Amino acid sequence: MVSQELLEILRCPACVQEKEGLLDYYKESWLVCRECGRKYPIRQDIPVMLIDEGERWLSTTVENLPVPPPDK
Ligand SMILES: [Zn+2]
Repeated sequence: MVSQELLEILRCPACVQEKEGLLDYYKESWLVCRECGRKYPIRQDIPVMLIDEGERWLSTTVENLPVPPPDK
């Protein structure tokens, strides 16, 4: 589980400078940016908030995200 406190403070690193970068929590496995659609995997309960990682999943629709996320 990722704590509610952590989920509330996390923002998309690609968007937060100019916008809110709010994230949607999806199936306890992903954080999806409402602004840009980057998708950040949660691995072993740790959100991987790397822009490069988020970009890998840009063209994947939310419904097609693997649950749980792949290790690499
Ligand atoms: Zn974003």
